[in-house]
Amino acid sequence: MITVTEAIQIVKQQTPTLSPELVKLEDALDRFLAEAVIADSDLPPFDRSQMDGYAVRAADTHDAPVRLLIVGESVAGAGWHYELLAGQAVRIMTGAPVPKGADSVQQVELTRELNEGATVEILRSADLGKSIVGRSSEIRAGEMVLREGERINAAMMALLASFGYAQVSVGREPRVAVLATGSELVSVDRRPGQDQIRDSNNYSIGAYAALAGAIVELMPLAGDDPGLLKRQITAAAERSDVVVTSGGVSMGVYDFTKTVLKELGGEIFFERVALRPGKPTVFARLPNGVLVFGLPGNPVSVSVTFNLFARTSLLAMQGAQEPALEQEIAILERSVKGAVDRESYLPGQIRTGEAGHLLAQPLKWGGSSDLVAFARATGLIRVPAGVATVEIGSTVRVVRLPS
Ligand code: AMP
Ligand code: MG
Repeated sequence: MITVTEAIQIVKQQTPTLSPELVKLEDALDRFLAEAVIADSDLPPFDRSQMDGYAVRAADTHDAPVRLLIVGESVAGAGWHYELLAGQAVRIMTGAPVPKGADSVQQVELTRELNEGATVEILRSADLGKSIVGRSSEIRAGEMVLREGERINAAMMALLASFGYAQVSVGREPRVAVLATGSELVSVDRRPGQDQIRDSNNYSIGAYAALAGAIVELMPLAGDDPGLLKRQITAAAERSDVVVTSGGVSMGVYDFTKTVLKELGGEIFFERVALRPGKPTVFARLPNGVLVFGLPGNPVSVSVTFNLFARTSLLAMQGAQEPALEQEIAILERSVKGAVDRESYLPGQIRTGEAGHLLAQPLKWGGSSDLVAFARATGLIRVPAGVATVEIGSTVRVVRLPS
């Protein structure tokens, strides 16, 4: 059995980066940059006023109140392109260029126009540089603004727009086929008969995959028929980058997923991870290069193993700088038990306490089939292998579940 860390390492090593594609800026949100973003101009491109008011020479205002002659107006988009001399002021608007010769902007609230706008009285002295954002003080042309592999958020959209990225090179979205095994399963639109349950894994996997940036296809249920499973995996692999199955990877008589993957010529990278829940997780590659994650069937195991392994792969495919879930430190709010030989990832609620640090409240749950309790989880609490009990008040590592 390999450790979770080793398994994540193998996933990163075996996952290829998909070739980038150009998308329109408006479609770039949440995508991963496949190029560094470079400023094509200084920002601001000129000394810019931060206020509505009067551009002045600060020295002229030292003995305020003082009266200055209004010689012009600088508006956003149409500046006043002469030199301001001693004793003069230019009416200026927020975002407008500060004229040469001016070194301060006094805000309009601290001024009063006289003589039908010919003169302004500056009521209070203005410090040198007041309300002026200097040219290139935010960034200089040619500097790198964003690195390859960063995920584009809303604030970054503004950066990209400011530097002329009408199109952006981003990692391609992986196509993911999701396939549930199990002859006890019926689809969501059917009432389960005796001994049957509705398939829920396809929907949680599909949702987590979509959160990881994938284009998702749910395949028809595969039952526990190795022939059908083989045909389904083959069909899925023809039109996707990754296939994620659930169920059929344990030691039961009807657990056929691994056998089928081997018969299809798949290379199995791992099939057992020292993880609770989620030990029988399979990671393989088919001869055509398609990656397969064979997740266990239990709904909680599915969420844990998807987010530790399959999500990492989907983000790595898109060129993410750090594809694995980030670990944070939290204080445990109730004692939990670990496992002798496996690392545990236990469902919990993560919140920020009054003192500002993270708190982790383990869920009361009925084990890895308890999807009802798990629906309230916001994160997973990690307990190292071999630790019998982690006491309340101890620090633990947690990861947040994507939502
Ligand atoms: P398995 O790994 O196939 O032995 O399945 C383990 C448990 O998970 C069994 O109780 C299954 O009924 C349940 N299970 C498997 N697949 C699904 C699914 N798609 N939706 C809900 N439960 C499932
Ligand atoms: Mg099964």
